[in-house]
Amino acid sequence: MTESPPEESRFGFVAVLGAPNVGKSTLINRLVGSKVTIVSPKVQTTRSRILGIALHGGSQIVLVDTPGIFQPKRRLDRAMVAAAWQGASDADIVCLLVDSERGVDADAQRIVEGLKKDGRQAVLVLNKIDRVKRENLLALSARLNEIGIFSDTFMLSALNGDGVGDFLDFIAGRVPPGVWHYPEDQISDLPQRLLAAEVTREQLFHLTHQEVPYAVAVDTDSWETFRDGSVKIMQTIYVQRDSQKPIILGKGGSLIKRVGAAARGELTEMLGCAVHLFLHVKVREKWSEDRSHFRAWGLDYNA
Ligand code: GDP
Ligand code: MG
Repeated sequence: MTESPPEESRFGFVAVLGAPNVGKSTLINRLVGSKVTIVSPKVQTTRSRILGIALHGGSQIVLVDTPGIFQPKRRLDRAMVAAAWQGASDADIVCLLVDSERGVDADAQRIVEGLKKDGRQAVLVLNKIDRVKRENLLALSARLNEIGIFSDTFMLSALNGDGVGDFLDFIAGRVPPGVWHYPEDQISDLPQRLLAAEVTREQLFHLTHQEVPYAVAVDTDSWETFRDGSVKIMQTIYVQRDSQKPIILGKGGSLIKRVGAAARGELTEMLGCAVHLFLHVKVREKWSEDRSHFRAWGLDYNA
């Protein structure tokens, strides 16, 4: 299964920090070359420290997709912020991703201050360069470099791939010499069941226009592989209140049907086999305080 790495192998962790929506997941997906994390046009969709693993030259690079650093209010939010900072302090390279169009907002500012306080050098990555004029981009870069915490600056578009190759060359050359820690074919250490739950949650985000999805959790209850290679996946969508159930179901169950069809399509592509997906909706008031979710997401309940 695993080929031995080249003699001059390198291995390291790269933390990708950034405000919600700046394109962290998009960048990681592009670096890894396969979809591993959830991408959503809405904010704050990443709840776990999902690892993507990129191979480039002799380097194996573990990318930590941090769950956004923002003002924590609930217990779950606090756990996510703690996990994000933990990811940063363990990493060999810390990157701050900034949306070139949005510039430095309050979220980015907080991260910059956190890095400064820790005395950490970081790599500045200006993303979404397809959305801004060159002179604005250079002005933003100059302004950010005045802060004095950035060792290098990259300008790229995670969406269309411009500049991503240079960035990948750079991080591959910067991680320290060392043996690879993961099998070559492993792109994410996120268990398949969790990944499948993320796929369904992503479709809920896309197909509902309510605040409800932020109060939604998806669990994969069972995963069965049949002799013909197809899989049967049963999932439960947990909502917090009775009133949210009809929103998820839609008129005559139309919405959940669309969510199921879209998620099934995505899973079929990801798994490369026929998928039978069954979704159930349940009300569970306290899911965001539930310890089992914190464990499943690798978060610290007492953060
Ligand atoms: P995250 O919250 O930081 O993980 O951000 P996502 O990766 O989920 O991206 C948020 C949104 O920005 C999505 O709609 C992406 O398609 C979009 N996006 C990401 N990178 C780029 C880029 O380079 N250019 C443009 N135009 N959009 C991008
Ligand atoms: Mg994300």
